[in-house]
Amino acid sequence: MAGARTLAIIKPDAFSAGKAGKIIAHLEGQGFAVRAARVMRLTQAQAEEFYAVHRERPFYRSLVTFMTSGPCMPLVLEKANAVTAYRDAIGATDPADAKPGTVRKLFAESKERNAVHGSDSDENAEREARFFFSDAELLAAR
Ligand code: ATP
Ligand code: MG
Repeated sequence: MAGARTLAIIKPDAFSAGKAGKIIAHLEGQGFAVRAARVMRLTQAQAEEFYAVHRERPFYRSLVTFMTSGPCMPLVLEKANAVTAYRDAIGATDPADAKPGTVRKLFAESKERNAVHGSDSDENAEREARFFFSDAELLAAR
């Protein structure tokens, strides 16, 4: 089903704080299914490539440093209208602006250390899933 999957990352702040299980349980409680998962530490080159769209932004270097600071957990999540449903579930980039009950309101520390990533379009969800998972892993989860 088109639009049924998105790419999430439990970022190093949340993973290192032992919040991965709580975040996944929270999302499963909202009807998201985990279809692929791994634990990894991004290299500098991987973080730079993943966030290349933000290369000219003032927070880019700091974001790359943060995202390489420890292990993170990329996930493929499935639900109807996954991209928008998941972005609704995680809330605004800055937890100070996130609605009550959203993942970032519940688990994020700051605008940068904001617990989770979420793809912003179906096209980017597909591209980002391929960034972290092989064809075999993505097919096996179907
Ligand atoms: P994500 O792409 O991680 O799901 P997002 O789409 O809400 O988050 P983006 O604008 O794509 O936010 O920014 C990517 C990430 O860069 C943010 O999640 C956050 O970690 C960091 N970031 C964004 N804006 C700022 C800022 N003004 N100061 C510090 N860090 C920021
Ligand atoms: Mg984004």
